[in-house]
Amino acid sequence: MKPTALVAGNWKMNGLAESRSELETLSKLLKEGTEAGCNVLICPPYTLISSFAAMNAESIAIGAQDCHAKASGAHTGDISAQMLRDAGAEYVIVGHSERRADHGESSALVCAKANAVLSEGLRAIVCVGETEAERDAGSTLTVVLGQLAESIPESATPDNMIVAYEPVWAIGTGRTPTTDDVAEVHTALRNALVERFGENGRRFSLLYGGSVKPSNAKELMSAPNVNGALVGGASLKATDFNGIIDAYR
Ligand code: PEP
Repeated sequence: MKPTALVAGNWKMNGLAESRSELETLSKLLKEGTEAGCNVLICPPYTLISSFAAMNAESIAIGAQDCHAKASGAHTGDISAQMLRDAGAEYVIVGHSERRADHGESSALVCAKANAVLSEGLRAIVCVGETEAERDAGSTLTVVLGQLAESIPESATPDNMIVAYEPVWAIGTGRTPTTDDVAEVHTALRNALVERFGENGRRFSLLYGGSVKPSNAKELMSAPNVNGALVGGASLKATDFNGIIDAYR
């Protein structure tokens, strides 16, 4: 069985109650257009998860952008995977480079968060990616494979875990790696997953993220071992996001 394609939107710290209209528009575009051969996910800020989930927008799953590693307790300002499930989230992104950089999150912590996500029966999207300095130093594969090994828990399966390769220097910059560069990293990730999980490793979905937009989505998504996209900026407008989903129509 082939990995399931997924196009996921990460709204980051953007979106207010009025943003429901974008979800409504996306739902309409998905209903009216040719059926997309991929799953579609929107990860709004925490404040919108329950209202978005309650909209039951056809063909759009709702997810979160992070969670705490514990289920409950004295952790002011944090949100647990249990709470996210309760609010209607089905997926949780963990280890996004902005969390790793802004909050000093280690791969060990990302692994603990991923474990928390899985133990609530949700799907984890684990992000890995090199900085520009690491790419320039020729250590992209070492960095990315190291993050993969340390961030993915033992209980991961192709049904509960998705990996997103997001070069840090490509996020929000308008710059992207070449399709060959993406293919090289994704093939290395695939090989590492097969080494660790046997034949099951072939079924994990591997997303590419970093400045994906309607104009480059088809080419990036055509690279070997790319099974979808994690999209930041271009996921905020339903028409742009739908243009990326077009890569799977
Ligand atoms: C992201 O932050 O996950 C991302 C891919 O952002 P952008 O698409 O804006 O580069």
